[in-house]
Amino acid sequence: MTHRYPRLLDLRVILVFAGLCAAAIPAPAQTPAPAGDQSIAVRYRDAADRLIGAALADSTAYRRLGVMVDTFGNRLSGSVSLERAIDWVLAQMRTDGLEGVRGEPVMVPHWVRGRESAELIRPRSYSLHLLGLGGSVATPAGGITAPVLVVGSFDELTRRAAKAKGKIVLFDFPFDTTASPFAAYGQAVQYRVRGPSAAARVGAKALLIRSVASRSMQSPHTGVTIYDSTVARIPAAALSVEDAELLHRLQDRGETAVVRLAMEASTLPDAPSRNVVAELRGSERPDEVVVVGGHIDSWDVGQGAMDDGGGAFAAWQAVRLMKQLGLRPRRTVRVVLWTNEENGGRGNLGYRDRYAADLERHVLAIESDNGVFAPLGFGVSGSDSAVALASQIGGLLAGIKAGVVERETQGSEADVEPLVDRGVPGMGLKVDASRYFWYHHSAADTFDKIDAGDMARCVAALAVMAYVVADLPEPLPR
Ligand SMILES: [Zn+2]
Repeated sequence: MTHRYPRLLDLRVILVFAGLCAAAIPAPAQTPAPAGDQSIAVRYRDAADRLIGAALADSTAYRRLGVMVDTFGNRLSGSVSLERAIDWVLAQMRTDGLEGVRGEPVMVPHWVRGRESAELIRPRSYSLHLLGLGGSVATPAGGITAPVLVVGSFDELTRRAAKAKGKIVLFDFPFDTTASPFAAYGQAVQYRVRGPSAAARVGAKALLIRSVASRSMQSPHTGVTIYDSTVARIPAAALSVEDAELLHRLQDRGETAVVRLAMEASTLPDAPSRNVVAELRGSERPDEVVVVGGHIDSWDVGQGAMDDGGGAFAAWQAVRLMKQLGLRPRRTVRVVLWTNEENGGRGNLGYRDRYAADLERHVLAIESDNGVFAPLGFGVSGSDSAVALASQIGGLLAGIKAGVVERETQGSEADVEPLVDRGVPGMGLKVDASRYFWYHHSAADTFDKIDAGDMARCVAALAVMAYVVADLPEPLPR
């Protein structure tokens, strides 16, 4: 962390930004600092600078992301495009010379959107902008036509429960980013996940939500919904923020809006997919593993470039660069591109179960799934001593402003959570996510939104953290 050795870091930052070879400059002697700090800062400075330099100079991951998303498109679990993209990634990993390149089979849910529409019938005819929620059931063939009841929260629905029977309920819950984008998401997403069953419980025929998004240009945002098995499954979709507010304004003026919702969504039998795995085997303790990864699947709209093609490819590139630079750590670094993060998590559960007997020797699991923006550092799910040690490693990333290491406060990242639950220290790459929820799960999650420089800095941060933890004499404390 910067406050521990500011003089050293200031010098390094100046040198790095001046384009000078920081690695060639001997580290200045330290005034009082714990011996461990000094040894990580000094011992890994050269390797860290080589990884950072290579990450900033090599745009392979960015270019490959463009090829994947333009060639195969989005990658929903069960789709042909996901499996074709996985085949292509595995082939590229073999050309990189990575070791143990393999697809590890896992069965995934297979939900298909089908055609869908929502028409305002009264007070005027108008096509609403919508996306069905992942996992939704279909409407009857002719659709559902009903008056709309707009409520702002679960509490308001409870208060107005008597008015909900036979209606289409719309939750117009705002996305309040005052605390942080992820705090806003954590609140608003409750309506996407639990809204349909809450509405069904009070007799609603269908459920609409205001898209879970921080900015909208009439682009609805999808995402998974989960039915409670004790109530009827009703069709569920997200409206654009603009259209949710339109319906809310009509109600506030005393108008009764009537909508016809038609959805063909269906859930087919589970389909085969794979987690993508490749390694750089450790030189001394190959059975001890640092996992670094993201998810290869995406929603079925846009290109899944932010979520999570870019995050996944940044993790892959981090390991590829170690290989290219001849930086082989003591422990194995394993890149894992999980499948089915978006609508089931079967990839991360499959990984946990496949390696159940090896999790004692999983030293760390790093996830990169918060969008591809300027990296800030890492959130740690683990012991205080793990956070403290990771903070020292973060000091190596201060030159690219990616060195802030903090205890994770929002819960573990989704794909490493099953490992964290079994005692493996977890980390999430933190980025400046102020624009993430403009694009997330929408048609606008496309390659043009990715900044090549930001992606390179994400690669650098992942590479330095994964490499140093994999090479330390002692495992990261649990
Ligand atoms: Zn994601």
